[in-house]
Amino acid sequence: MMRDPARDSALRLAAALREATHLVYFVGGCVRDKLLNLPVKDYDLATDAPPARLKDLFPHALEVGAHFGVVIVREGEAEIQIATFRSDHAYRDGRRPEAVTFESDPRQDVLRRDFTINALLEDPFTGEVIDHVNGLADLRARLLRAIGDPARRFTEDRLRLLRAIRFAARLGFEIEAATWDALVRLAPAITAVSVERVRDELSRILTEGGARRGCELLDASGLLEILLPEIARMKGVPQPPEFHPEGDVWTHTLLLLEHLPPSPPLPLALAALLHDVGKPPTFSVSDRIRFNGHAEEGARLTALILQRLKYPGAIIDTTVALVKNHMRFLDLPRMGQAARKRFFRLPHFDQQLELYRLDLLGGLRPLNAYEEALRLHETLAAEDLRPAPLVTGEDLIELGFSPGPRFKQILDAIEEEQLEGGLSTREQALQFVLERFDRAG
Ligand code: ATP
Ligand code: MG
Repeated sequence: MMRDPARDSALRLAAALREATHLVYFVGGCVRDKLLNLPVKDYDLATDAPPARLKDLFPHALEVGAHFGVVIVREGEAEIQIATFRSDHAYRDGRRPEAVTFESDPRQDVLRRDFTINALLEDPFTGEVIDHVNGLADLRARLLRAIGDPARRFTEDRLRLLRAIRFAARLGFEIEAATWDALVRLAPAITAVSVERVRDELSRILTEGGARRGCELLDASGLLEILLPEIARMKGVPQPPEFHPEGDVWTHTLLLLEHLPPSPPLPLALAALLHDVGKPPTFSVSDRIRFNGHAEEGARLTALILQRLKYPGAIIDTTVALVKNHMRFLDLPRMGQAARKRFFRLPHFDQQLELYRLDLLGGLRPLNAYEEALRLHETLAAEDLRPAPLVTGEDLIELGFSPGPRFKQILDAIEEEQLEGGLSTREQALQFVLERFDRAG
């Protein structure tokens, strides 16, 4: 195996616990992902050492969930979670247990976890995997299965409805039948979960791999209709077959999600999902099916949806801009130099360009137009897009102009000419001002 500093750190902490005669195991994602030959993101340890003992042994640990017996130890880049074995009491509010009992038996600790593949223990020193829930069989069969009675487990903590979809999508696993039945039946209970937690799961479903499958599962479970009704409306909305041989707006959107690059920036992933959200409300038939103004309507809806989900302002702004500008590539061949440079100057143009690539793939179109846009963009250096100003306000005053709103007009006109390639020196720019603008006006 490759050297993994996080694993080494986790092993050191495990050794300290073992030294103090405690039971200690790797648990959860790190065991699952290693068995699947996937990169391990972070290491979680489970131990019979009670919380007070953890504080003694690791005085610098962060007490993230003191109430639940969870601490985090930071070692260089790595953050290792250490949790005392526990069982959870009755759940309140469909999210958290009233109280927990610390346990000395690891079996109790794995039974409170959500899915069998997330409940495997690994002896850190021998590598032996300890499986109290038949997780190894499910891992081999690529099945996501709730531990115990699925309906009870989803009712206890409704966030698990979305976690199930996230793991199934990311890992490409099937959801076991009884688990799926309970998920579908309990989908309406998702409204008990805070918007922030729902938002974070949606973001992860869109960016951690398997976004297409994730959205199909959201749809099939009924969660899409509840959480993103505007997206559910795309289903069955027809498109002109000459531009969209793939089918309706939903089919098109799923294709974009399928082609997302690995670990996409969140705004790009959100925009792939939302770019045509303005199509259902703008659908009309004249000479052919048309969606007049769908990018603007889509931008408006995108802002509303992302605000409802309480995304940070910067994520909303970027995503809205991506949706709003996604049709502008059609005009690129006809744009003059200045218009093209201003288009390329859009913030996050790299994501805008990538969304265009996805949009073409989603329409089963060749990528020639994308490649041409990429080439044009690459041939323009940064100083071509944002050339240093040739003239300042001071210069205008010297020429005899009085400061005021006209200054911006004049300076903008110079920049426009500069971007068009008509002006390249200060002298030319001053000459241009004198010819075009009246000192008295
Ligand atoms: P990831 O790679 O996404 O981090 P993970 O399996 O490590 O996957 P975490 O959310 O980091 O998942 O949680 C660590 C472990 O804690 C899980 O594997 C699972 O055993 C348990 N767990 C986390 N959240 C829940 C939950 N809501 N209900 C029950 N068990 C949970
Ligand atoms: Mg984890």
